Amino acid sequence: MNKLISVFLALLMLLGISVSALAWTYDADSKTLTVCPHEDITLTVEGPAAASFAQITVTGSAEGNTTAKPSSASDSKTVFKVPFSASKGAADGSAFKVTFQYYDADKQDLGKDATYTVRVVDNMKQTAAVAATCTSVGNPNYYTCSICGKHFADVAGKQALSSKDLVTEKTDHHWVANGVQFKCSLCGAITTENVSGKTDNFTGFMKKDGKYIYYVNGNRSSASSDVVYGTINGSTGWYYIEKGVFTKTTTIAKNAHGWWRIENGKVNFKYNGIGHNGYGWWKCKNGKVDFSYNGIAHNENGWWKCSNGRVTFKETGVYKNENGWWFCEHSKVKFNYNGLASNQFGTWVIKNGKVNFKYNGKYRYNKVNFTVKNGKVV
Ligand SMILES: [Zn+2]
Ligand SMILES: [Zn+2]
Repeated sequence: MNKLISVFLALLMLLGISVSALAWTYDADSKTLTVCPHEDITLTVEGPAAASFAQITVTGSAEGNTTAKPSSASDSKTVFKVPFSASKGAADGSAFKVTFQYYDADKQDLGKDATYTVRVVDNMKQTAAVAATCTSVGNPNYYTCSICGKHFADVAGKQALSSKDLVTEKTDHHWVANGVQFKCSLCGAITTENVSGKTDNFTGFMKKDGKYIYYVNGNRSSASSDVVYGTINGSTGWYYIEKGVFTKTTTIAKNAHGWWRIENGKVNFKYNGIGHNGYGWWKCKNGKVDFSYNGIAHNENGWWKCSNGRVTFKETGVYKNENGWWFCEHSKVKFNYNGLASNQFGTWVIKNGKVNFKYNGKYRYNKVNFTVKNGKVV
């Protein structure tokens, strides 16, 4: 790699010299420039006004003598760009001289004072290898040049390493099923998420690609739908799955133990209303469909006559619950109904949807007079 690093040697009428460089060092007293053999560089030499300079010659470089023409010039200064390849042929720790000789247009030597020592050093610092674990990254054995800062696999500096090469990735955890979770046998970490290792005997949810997958004894659940016990986001409970994947929905769903009220994918054991699924509306008791229920219960849509736990929407008549007897039409209590209605026990006076057992006397309905005793037509 031919990286160009400019080193400024400002030749001010054979007087002062200044050097600016990154990790390189220049000692003004001994006129020694310290470099390493890992990078090719370009020396930038600035001299006085253009009229004075035609070329400079560098002797003693690894590439042999080099003659450079001005690369730019102005009334105030002249700039020479001189390739200098310390990486080519320079022995470790060797020293050699670069002499800048410069002439005017008439080839008259203007001075030989610009002689420098370039010292090539090979100062490698070793970093010992550190093994990666399942909780921390490691690194290989490598060497870092104190001059250019580059990293190498070998102390000779032949095999360069990128910063990426300096890190070895964490090793995999070794997951072992631990109840409804996994435990790493190496570091003790516990998870149910993104497990890529051993899954034998695991029963519970594992998070993969943003989804919670349910496993039974290490195998992904194959049921089209189910209500299963597990832990999601640290919360343990009964969850609804479709094709093995946690599904955040609100419905009534069944498992081997019954039908359950699901809210946002999780069984709500406090639910006592009438929930809905694709098959109908169902009376629930403590989150479970109560197929023995035959009363009148309510949900957010009203009060409903239930038969064997289900709203049939077909029942019209007078039905009872713990609060009284009620007139229902298509299974729904009609609180705005006033009139007569019948069931298998007789015909009744209904006031605001409810049988009025206190009614006695004449009752006129549909232009007909009836006699009523304790709410019942006699
Ligand atoms: Zn170096
Ligand atoms: Zn681990």
